[in-house]
Amino acid sequence: MIKQIAVIGSGTMGNGIAHVCAQYGNNVSLIDISEAPLEKAIKTITGNFDRMVTKGIVTAADKDAALQRITTYTKLSDGVKNADLIIEAASENESIKLSIFKELDSVCKADAILATNTSSISITKIASVTKRPDKVIGMHFMNPVPVMKLIEVIRGYKTSDEVTKIIFDLSVKLNKIPVEVNDYPGFIANRILMPMINEAIYSLYEGVAGVHEIDEVMKLGMAHPMGPLQLADFIGLDVCLAILRVLHDGFGNPKYAPCPLLVNMVTAGNLGKKSGVGFYDYASGGKDLIVAATFQK
Ligand code: NAD
Repeated sequence: MIKQIAVIGSGTMGNGIAHVCAQYGNNVSLIDISEAPLEKAIKTITGNFDRMVTKGIVTAADKDAALQRITTYTKLSDGVKNADLIIEAASENESIKLSIFKELDSVCKADAILATNTSSISITKIASVTKRPDKVIGMHFMNPVPVMKLIEVIRGYKTSDEVTKIIFDLSVKLNKIPVEVNDYPGFIANRILMPMINEAIYSLYEGVAGVHEIDEVMKLGMAHPMGPLQLADFIGLDVCLAILRVLHDGFGNPKYAPCPLLVNMVTAGNLGKKSGVGFYDYASGGKDLIVAATFQK
């Protein structure tokens, strides 16, 4: 029975995961490496709950109770020691994740489940640095976490049926819809999404059409709420590149080779919305998208 949840990393995803876990009655330890990101996360969670109160989704009392359930920590071992489930949402960097899981294995309760929100790193590899690979699992939430219904539940090579069932039950309790996937590069979400984004970038690179035209075709023609180039800007072009490299390395198939334009844009620091410019220019605050003039090869 999961009662106490620890969330590691309080960035974009970690604060959303902490929000949802607390909203549905769990005590949450939110952990980061310093106070600054934790303060920012609590501010974000409070703002998101305020909007939910305004929209009538939760009451002000629900909001206060949920915020009361979240405690912040900068020392990992303090934050995780009583947790039944740890959800790691630290930066997408393999060596950071492996070192976190090694430490978790030695400081967590023996029966604690260790989950990771990784977008692309092998669950089996993360599990292999612990002595409990049967209790290591992927819980891939989607951004923004309080809004998106899917949790891609990824079974590592040794993840047990029992642990998978516990995570499925919890996902439903969090008002999400879990979908089971096996542990191969990109899982399902990114294995299908990233080649589509890469193909959109190749289409631009080869001069088949412009940014606006490519996104319009996919929005109007395929009923996608957002075009692939705009979506790439929102995800972060560095993140897209990192995931494509995982697919390319993992399958050894040239079809996943990242477009040279994507590589150039990341090298130049045009990372999408978070850096102010990607395929679009966000100088206007991101509301009025202007096609950037910086995408030429
Ligand atoms: P982010 O950069 O917004 O936040 C990462 C946080 O982790 C930062 O606050 C950082 O200080 C903290 N951190 C780094 N090392 C740490 C450590 N050793 N201990 C504790 N905290 C540490 O990143 P994000 O976008 O929230 O991504 C987090 C994870 O979620 C990644 O694995 C990413 O692939 C995955 N993910 C991201 C998205 C997305 O749309 N952003 C979607 C699904 C999954």
